[in-house]
Amino acid sequence: MDDGESLDGWPEDDYPGGWFGTSWGAPICDDGNHLPTPVGEPCTDCKVPIFDGDQGLSVPFIFRRGDGLHAWKLTHIHIDCFRAGQQMTSTQLYVDGER
Ligand SMILES: [Zn+2]
Repeated sequence: MDDGESLDGWPEDDYPGGWFGTSWGAPICDDGNHLPTPVGEPCTDCKVPIFDGDQGLSVPFIFRRGDGLHAWKLTHIHIDCFRAGQQMTSTQLYVDGER
């Protein structure tokens, strides 16, 4: 893939997103990246800072910078906020587990 633009810092061979906190029994908790809890970072949904002990997802968000190049940052969302805002999809089953 070569579109002539760079994503500074994007890992070459790994998906930078994942999940944090203790496992809630979903498939992503078994084979997704288990990342450090982003204490103090705001949830993208409810805007409440993440606390130590929260469970949630860290999702790479790609955006266009002022200079026209693409860049990315990791954003974070509580698993409960994610559940409340999503349609039932295969992606949700992956992160949420069968119930
Ligand atoms: Zn939230």
